[in-house]
Amino acid sequence: MIDEIRKIKEKKNAVILAHNYQMPEIQDVADFVGDSLELARKATEITDSGLIIFCGVRFMAETAKILNPGKKVFLPAFDAGCPLADMARVEDVMKLKEKNPDVPVVSYVNTSADVKAISDVCCTSSNAATVVKNIPSDTVIFLPDRNLGYFVQKQVPEKKLILWDGYCFVHRQFTIQDLKLARKKYTDAEIMVHPECNPEVQEAADFVLSTSGMLKRAKISDSKIFIIGTEEGLIHRLKKENPYKEFFSLGSARVCFNMKKTTLEKLKDCLENETDEIVLSENVIKKARSALDAMLKYV
Ligand code: SF4
Repeated sequence: MIDEIRKIKEKKNAVILAHNYQMPEIQDVADFVGDSLELARKATEITDSGLIIFCGVRFMAETAKILNPGKKVFLPAFDAGCPLADMARVEDVMKLKEKNPDVPVVSYVNTSADVKAISDVCCTSSNAATVVKNIPSDTVIFLPDRNLGYFVQKQVPEKKLILWDGYCFVHRQFTIQDLKLARKKYTDAEIMVHPECNPEVQEAADFVLSTSGMLKRAKISDSKIFIIGTEEGLIHRLKKENPYKEFFSLGSARVCFNMKKTTLEKLKDCLENETDEIVLSENVIKKARSALDAMLKYV
């Protein structure tokens, strides 16, 4: 199956992008593996291919389309959504904006294209605090993840954050008990958790990092054992890039079922038949692009 995928990919001159949380075989067949924005940006650098297959969830493929409007972007698992992104609906965000006129909206990249289009600035988990710090306003609407909002508020205490009440069900499953057990079992380990984890888990961890931050930390750290508080798919890449180090999930492996909807069969089918294309209106692309571009102004 992998050989067949590679053959079709070459014939069509397509590029396969896979998120860090995809299944190992999908990560291994991809041209690039990374976080959502990293991949969307990567796609802008690829000038010799107009066909992008994004193995991830919908908001990620939408972001790739927003940054690459002239290319065809496909999502092989077309029903793969993100429950966190779905928690911020356009009509509810509009209501909050109306209640707080003149307060800028900072949206985490985990939002739909439509929500990005009504936001002032986008951010990632690694640059959210910098974006909020530098945006010229004392009050900021921050959505949709309240735990990431907590993490940002701690680093930017001088600003008032109006937090959305959204959460990632995967990261919310890590508990303080998981952390205490891990500390007891692996006394020399470094514990890294994602800012989408609950505040008490963030407080007790050694590092609160985005997935790209975890990948960097694992490389430079002297530690040989790491406990990872994020979706279990990242562990495949961590092990691959650091073969002499050990990585364990914080508690039981936490799985995002939407991320696991991409299979080799669906990927092959999508490549072969060019089905499941992401289509966005020009207006949405233009406005969402402006929120993504604004992010670069503040980092
Ligand atoms: S891990 Fe959480 S934030 Fe990421 S796609 Fe799954 S539900 Fe959404």
